[in-house]
Amino acid sequence: MILKGNPVSPGIVMGKAFLYKAFTCEVLASYFEKGHEEKYTEILETALTEAHLELDELIASLNFIDAEKAKIFVAHKEILSDEEIIDMIHNAINKEQKRPDFAVKSVFDEFIEILGKAKDPLIAARTADLRDVCNRLLRILKGEKEKNLSSLPESVIVVAQDLLPSDTATIDRVHVAGIITEAGGSTSHSAIIARGYKIPAVVGVPQVLEVIEDGMLLALDAISGEITLSPSEKVVNQTREKAEIFIRQQEAEEKYLSKPAMTADGQHIEIGINIGSEEFDVSLENYDSVGLFRTEFLYMENNHLPTEEEQFHAYQHVLDLAGGKTVTLRTLDIGGDKTLQYMQLPKEDNPFLGKRALRLCLDNSEMFHIQLRAALRASAYGPLQIMFPMVGSIDDIRRAKLAVSVAKEQLRAEKKPFNEDIKLGIMIEIPSIALIADMAAEEVDFASVGTNDLTQYLCAVDRMNPSVSGYYQDLSPAMLRILNFIFEQFHTKGKPVSVCGELAGNPAAAVVLVGMGLRKLSMSEANIARVKAALAGVTIEKGISLGEVCRNLSTEDEVKVYLEKYI
Ligand code: PEP
Ligand code: MG
Repeated sequence: MILKGNPVSPGIVMGKAFLYKAFTCEVLASYFEKGHEEKYTEILETALTEAHLELDELIASLNFIDAEKAKIFVAHKEILSDEEIIDMIHNAINKEQKRPDFAVKSVFDEFIEILGKAKDPLIAARTADLRDVCNRLLRILKGEKEKNLSSLPESVIVVAQDLLPSDTATIDRVHVAGIITEAGGSTSHSAIIARGYKIPAVVGVPQVLEVIEDGMLLALDAISGEITLSPSEKVVNQTREKAEIFIRQQEAEEKYLSKPAMTADGQHIEIGINIGSEEFDVSLENYDSVGLFRTEFLYMENNHLPTEEEQFHAYQHVLDLAGGKTVTLRTLDIGGDKTLQYMQLPKEDNPFLGKRALRLCLDNSEMFHIQLRAALRASAYGPLQIMFPMVGSIDDIRRAKLAVSVAKEQLRAEKKPFNEDIKLGIMIEIPSIALIADMAAEEVDFASVGTNDLTQYLCAVDRMNPSVSGYYQDLSPAMLRILNFIFEQFHTKGKPVSVCGELAGNPAAAVVLVGMGLRKLSMSEANIARVKAALAGVTIEKGISLGEVCRNLSTEDEVKVYLEKYI
């Protein structure tokens, strides 16, 4: 059987399926008859021992990979050993005859409610840990085995409905050979992370969890988007051959990786990298700057809002790793598909059109202020610039700049060093700011176009919804026209503009963008060699004429066919 989906991170692999479903269960209020207290106490005790064992194993394996993450589970063990909690569960069984699952759930719910009301966000954040521990106990009581992506026993292809950013943040990169999800488009965060980690991935595959069984052999072709279930010997051999060809092609492009990006007529193009964590391992020769540092992952990997000190050290660390190259720090872009387990975000019918990113930060001024202080302080240690996501108007820009002024003023009073001339820029992701790019350019030092969101908002298509992925046309003539307009306006005002959305990492699109005047592209590490190879094959003149023709074609299909013919 062959399934088809949207290939979002290239590669060809074979491996066993690892079905990943986050555990959820409904606990009914149920009681046992008096006289069976001992039996149910024993069931609880066995579950507690099992939970401790699971956590010990998890901590031991994580200690090797990431000692910081191991600490989360050490804290979970402390909860499991908390006398007050454990006594209350025992009492619920012995005095109220609640069945163990009901006893566990009601006691944890009580604690979660009390902690959730705490004013101190650090205490309130503990509710996420309590939920995790409660779920662990309930799963064990149900007799289900643990499914966790942070430590896998062998190399597997992960199959899931969707991977949450919190799953991908802790994913065991060594043992995930491939990713298949039912949900998600090419710019969903699972896709971006898969590309960042160079894990072949196909998303938007209908009903994967129904047809793929745990442990089933899969041949994953993340170039064509085809997944063969229990492949025959013939398909196994064909897959091996295709994988070899793919690797050879990658090797041919690889020779461009560490060279500066140059067009055939010698125009240098700045290559930025997009990073999503303070740890990244990209050779300094491969890139010219960090064009997009997505800071939300710092918030998502933690079980609490990162403090100013934690952020300051993380940002300083990124500057260190970038070895003197400019780092563009994007302020928190949460909301939409990205949530924080410890922070209650408003429930919205249309979260992508709701209070996300800058809107959320402007509304949570203290949280924003802490991030800005940390970024400003880090700017004393290297070339850091700040960029705001989801800007929709000049008002947004002015409010964000005001927040920076307030943070600067405070640091000055405290005599803490920072770069007074730090550059402030915006992401252009919403048509309402794109169409006044001339005015926006006067307000900021630079801009970077987030084509993932710009496509979503220009084409009115949810970037996460596979059923409308055909409408998500980031190479449509409409997109090319609006991009051309943005570049022209910024260049006229003498302000730098770049593209850091996924379009910049598409080799054919990169050529067209350069033809429309762009001189800086920022992308996932996985795309650098391919883009540099494509740029080396064309002159600026050719790029200009490709751009002109494509902007005057009628459909995205025509653009793609035309580019395939010429590049
Ligand atoms: C974008 O929207 O193009 C972008 C780079 O931001 P993100 O993908 O993080 O929303
Ligand atoms: Mg965006």
